[in-house]
Amino acid sequence: MIDFGFSISKSSHIQMDNVDLKLFNKLEALNPDISTCMACGLCTATCSAGNFTDASFRKIILMLQRGKDKEALEKVKKCMMCGKCILVCSRGINTRNILLSITRIYNEEDK
Ligand code: SF4
Ligand code: SF4
Repeated sequence: MIDFGFSISKSSHIQMDNVDLKLFNKLEALNPDISTCMACGLCTATCSAGNFTDASFRKIILMLQRGKDKEALEKVKKCMMCGKCILVCSRGINTRNILLSITRIYNEEDK
């Protein structure tokens, strides 16, 4: 292993080989623009719900990419669907559509 002079704390380690990305892959197939997200956080900075909850579109995407589906869905439930995040997204991603797709996919999985 290369010694970079620093390391990631154990609690932050993610074994990507063990992560189940079935649901994220489904979401990406429906919304290919999701892969262009660069986690800049502009959507989170402007989020109406984020002013008084822990809602964050950026974190939702990161959680889904790490297989943390349940945690992501809890954050999606706090979204007010106001659409402000679409207006500021530096990549022009239709964030609200993705949030709706997440809800739809997870509801289907629950059936
Ligand atoms: S649509 Fe949802 S995630 Fe986007 S700014 Fe509004 S409350 Fe936040
Ligand atoms: S503003 Fe757009 S590119 Fe930036 S984190 Fe949000 S969704 Fe991703």
